Amino acid sequence: MAGDETGDGTQARFLDDVSVELVKHSASDSDVLWAARVSTAGEQSLEEIGKDPARSKGLINFLMRDRHGSPFEHNSMTFLVSAPIFVFREFHRHRAGWSYNEESGRYRELRPFFYVPGPERRLVQEGKPGQYVFVEGDAGQHKLVTEVMEGSYRASYAAYREMLEAGIAREVARAVLPVGLFSSMYATCNARSLMHFLSLRTRNEQSAVPSFPQREIEMVAEKMEAAWAELMPLTHAAFVAAGRVAP
Ligand SMILES: Cc1cc2nc3c(=O)[nH]c(=O)nc-3n(C[C@H](O)[C@H](O)[C@H](O)COP(=O)(O)OP(=O)(O)OC[C@H]3O[C@@H](n4cnc5c(N)ncnc54)[C@H](O)[C@@H]3O)c2cc1C
Repeated sequence: MAGDETGDGTQARFLDDVSVELVKHSASDSDVLWAARVSTAGEQSLEEIGKDPARSKGLINFLMRDRHGSPFEHNSMTFLVSAPIFVFREFHRHRAGWSYNEESGRYRELRPFFYVPGPERRLVQEGKPGQYVFVEGDAGQHKLVTEVMEGSYRASYAAYREMLEAGIAREVARAVLPVGLFSSMYATCNARSLMHFLSLRTRNEQSAVPSFPQREIEMVAEKMEAAWAELMPLTHAAFVAAGRVAP
C-alpha cells in the first residue's frame, strides 16, 4: 500500500490488495446434517445439532458427490468486502443465493483509494480468448503501470473534487472516477452459493471443471474460501474432494 497527495491535498491511497472480513455468520457442518437428515428422521433430525459432525463426514461427502445441494443452504455468512469497482461488476453477476449492499456514490463522497497491481501480479496477456495465459511483466512494465495508473487516478480525483467544490452533485461528478476506485459492500451468502462462486472465481489444480477468473476477484474469493473453510471444514474438504464443483 502507498499513499500520495492528490492535486487538492486529499490523501490518496494506492492499494495492491483487496480486503475481506467475515463480519457475521451462522454456519457449521452440523447445519448440513440436520437439514439432510430431515428426510429420514423428521423433526428428530434436530438432535444432530449437538452431535460431533465428524462422525457424519460420510454423509456430507455423499451429498456433495451426488449434488444434493439444498442441505448446504441452511447457513449464512456475511462478508465486508473492499475491492475495486471492476471486481464488484464481476461479483454482482452472481445472483442466486447472494445479497448485496454497497456504498453509494450518490450519498457519500467517494474516497481516493485506488487499485494498483502489486509486483507479483502477472501483467502480460498472451493467447486467444478462452485460452489466455498471463506472464510476468518486466520491471519497466511494472513501473509504467504504476506511474500511468497513479497519474490517471490523481487527475480523475482532482476533476471529481473540482466539480464537488463547484457545487455539482456527487451523483454527477462521480462519472469521472475510474473502475480502479475501491468500493465496499456487504455480501451475504450460504455455503452452496459460495461454492458456486468459488468454482467460477478461483483457479485450482483440483478443479474438475477449470475456470479462468480475473486475478483480482480471485483474491477476494481466496479470502472468502479461507474464512469459510474454518467455519465448515468438513464441507470445505468435501467440496475440494468433489473437484470443487458446487452441489
Ligand atoms: C471466467 C469468467 C469469464 C466471464 N466472462 C464474462 C463475459 O465476458 N461477459 C459476461 O457478460 N459475463 C461473463 N462472466 C459472467 C458469467 O457469465 C456469469 O454471469 C457469472 O459467472 C455468474 O454465474 P452464474 O450465472 O452461474 O451465477 P448465479 O447468477 O449466482 O446463478 C447460479 C445458478 O443459478 C441458475 N440460474 C440463475 N439465474 C438463472 C436464470 N435466469 N435462468 C436459468 N438459471 C439461472 C444457474 O444454474 C446458475 O449457474 C464470466 C464469468 C467467469 C467466471
